[in-house]
Amino acid sequence: MKALVLTQYKKMEYIEVETPEIKPDEVLVQVKACGICGSDIHGFDGSTGRRQPPVIMGHEASGVIAEVGSAVSGWKKNDRVTFDSTVYCGHCDYCRKGQINLCSNRRVLGVSCDEYRRNGAFAEYVAIPQHILYRLPDEVTYDQATIVEPLSVAFHAVNLSPRTVGASVTVVGTGMVGLLIVQAARAAGYGQIIAIDHHPEHLELAQNLGADIILLSNETIDEKVKALTGGEGTDVVFEVAGTNASVHTAIACARKGGAVTLVGNIAPKVDLPLQTVVTRQLTLQGSCASSGEYPACLDMIARKAVNVDAIISRSAPLADGHRWFTTLYNKEGHHLKIVLNP
Ligand SMILES: [Zn+2]
Ligand SMILES: [Zn+2]
Repeated sequence: MKALVLTQYKKMEYIEVETPEIKPDEVLVQVKACGICGSDIHGFDGSTGRRQPPVIMGHEASGVIAEVGSAVSGWKKNDRVTFDSTVYCGHCDYCRKGQINLCSNRRVLGVSCDEYRRNGAFAEYVAIPQHILYRLPDEVTYDQATIVEPLSVAFHAVNLSPRTVGASVTVVGTGMVGLLIVQAARAAGYGQIIAIDHHPEHLELAQNLGADIILLSNETIDEKVKALTGGEGTDVVFEVAGTNASVHTAIACARKGGAVTLVGNIAPKVDLPLQTVVTRQLTLQGSCASSGEYPACLDMIARKAVNVDAIISRSAPLADGHRWFTTLYNKEGHHLKIVLNP
C-alpha cells in the first residue's frame, strides 16, 4: 500500500510500504480521510519525542472496513467507520470505571515513543481493534468524521465543567478545539460566551459559530472581561491555548468561586498565580482527550447541531502530505484543519 511516512524529522515521504496484517480482534480499514492534528505537527520536528521515525502518523480518521479479523463480531466489510484515537486496554482499573482516556496501557494511533510504536492512518489501510470502532451515520461524510476526535475533546472538556443553564463562559484560544468548545458550550446551554484570541480571523469564525463577544487578546484583557460581567469575570473559563500567558489570562477571567478547565498544554510548565486561585476559591480542572463522547459527537454532526465544515480549511490528496505538513509547520496562512485523502 501507499503511505505517508515520517522517514526522518521534518521529512514525509509518500512511499510503498507493507499493508498491515490484522490480529483476530482487528479490522483492516481502508482510509478515506485523515486530519492533520497539532500534535502531529509538534511531532514532525521531533520536539515532543512522540513521533520517532519511521512512523505513519494520523489518528483523526475515517474509512470503510476492507477486511474483518476472525474474532470480530458485529462488523462487516464495507461498513463506514471512524475510530477512537486511543487504543485503550479495556481491563485496567481506569478502563473498568469507564475512564478509557486514563487507561494505564493506552496507545495512541500514529505515535511512536520510547514505550511503543503504533502506525496511524496517513495510509491506504490501517489496522484497528474492533472495540474502538464507531459506525458513521449516513449523513456524516468521511471528511466530516475526521473532526469527531477533536470534537470529542471539546465535549469532554464541557462535560467535566460545571454546567448551569445560562452560566457565563470565556474561551481563551479559538484555534480548532477552541472553536469546537464554543459550539459545544452553546449546545450545552451556557449563557454569554466570550471568546479571546490573537487572530481576528479566528475570532470572526468564533462569532459565526456561537460566541456572543469576541476580544483580541492583550495583557489586560481580563479587565475587559470583568467589565463585561459586572466586574466579576465569568462562571467558567476554558483554556485552550496552553501557554504561560494564556493560562494567566484564563485564571484572571474567572469569577470568584468559578472554574477554569485546562485543555491546552503546549507549555510543559506554567507559573501558577497561587494567591488568585486560593483567595478567589477557583477550581482548576484538567481535561485530557475524551471518554465515551464519540457517539454524541457523531449524532450532533449528523443533525448539524455543530458545524464542522467551518473547521475544515481544505482537503488535499495524501500524496501532497509533505507540502501540507511543511505549510502548517511554518505557520503559512490561517489553516484550521487540513484533511488528507488517500
Ligand atoms: Zn489529535
Ligand atoms: Zn485500560
